[in-house]
Amino acid sequence: MRFETAAIHAGRGIDRGSGAVMAPIVLSTTFEREPDGSYAHGYVYSRNENPNRAALEECLSQLEGGEAAAAFASGQAATMGVLQVLQPGDHVIVPHDAYFGTKGLALDILQPWGLEATVVDMTELDGVRSAVQDNTRLIWVETPSNPRLKITDIAAVARVAHDAGARCIVDNTWASPAGQSPLALGADLVMHATTKYLGGHSDVLGGAVVSRKGDEFFDRIRNIQQIGGAVPSPFDCWLLLRSISTLSVRMRVHTESAQRIAEVLAEHPRLEAVHYPGLPQHPGHEIAARQMHRFGGMLSIQVEGGMQAAMDVAARVKVFTRATSLGGVESLIEHRASVEGPDSPVPPNLLRISVGLESVDDLIEDLAQALQ
Ligand SMILES: *Cc1c(COP(=O)(O)O)cnc(C)c1O
Repeated sequence: MRFETAAIHAGRGIDRGSGAVMAPIVLSTTFEREPDGSYAHGYVYSRNENPNRAALEECLSQLEGGEAAAAFASGQAATMGVLQVLQPGDHVIVPHDAYFGTKGLALDILQPWGLEATVVDMTELDGVRSAVQDNTRLIWVETPSNPRLKITDIAAVARVAHDAGARCIVDNTWASPAGQSPLALGADLVMHATTKYLGGHSDVLGGAVVSRKGDEFFDRIRNIQQIGGAVPSPFDCWLLLRSISTLSVRMRVHTESAQRIAEVLAEHPRLEAVHYPGLPQHPGHEIAARQMHRFGGMLSIQVEGGMQAAMDVAARVKVFTRATSLGGVESLIEHRASVEGPDSPVPPNLLRISVGLESVDDLIEDLAQALQ
């Protein structure tokens, strides 16, 4: 099945109990045991496995081209599920420009438990190479990165990881599986905040890890999922599958609109910078064009005049909503540094934009009047 078909059919099927075309939501936490002690359908208890979660995991595995997937209650729970596989004394390399929660887990939560972490500019391959240590087990990539849309060469970093006997994981949240296939480029694992484009409607929180191989490392992630219990509800899994059916179509329009908005804003005299990998002048454009199917619906801009000027622009929007998060049908704009807090490395004049599915002309007019 090609991607668009798998997005609609993978993990789905007629419900044999009722003939339902769309899967029922199985809320039962427990499943009947046969007189001989076996389980007729393989399900025992819903923290371990649930039909709606199994369907979602099957679909995500196929969309990323992996052998196995584990769904979590949030993107952060998925990240935690991967990092907790590492042992005290192990070393992880994380990107400087990345979702702040990823660095928060590696540095603030797990360093006190004995995990070693080095923060690098993941776009500088020499810097990544020289950060490798004997105990490096994992290199964490996020591309395009949050919030500066930096582009990392996934194949090159995966080679650095493999030369060191380590694994490479890619946070594929911003590109979505419709925009980028990290496993095909050599990555070992993919992580998603399904909260974003996979959910697509800003109404469900979730995360997932997809593994190229159903190997021992993945078995340990599965064990953390089942024993740790940070699992998504059956309804959340059902909602995610419903949204994934339209992922390809949504990503096509998100990308077309973001490209047009980036091109218009690139000419704007009040902006110091427009960060969008689909612009030919973006420093990562060549790599992005090679490794992405689509450039995606996220961009960020830096407003001339500093933080207050940026806040003033955000204050004037009418179609965009001032809010954090991304990937929904509605367009969002946010002042990123103040969302991340006082330690944020994000430039104070930066606004992050999630381009939704409204008329692109309305979005362009709205930004134009806000920038005036
Ligand atoms: C939102 C996000 C996360 C965290 O996901 P949650 O569902 O909020 O826990 C991780 N990585 C990226 C790139 C994100 O955008």
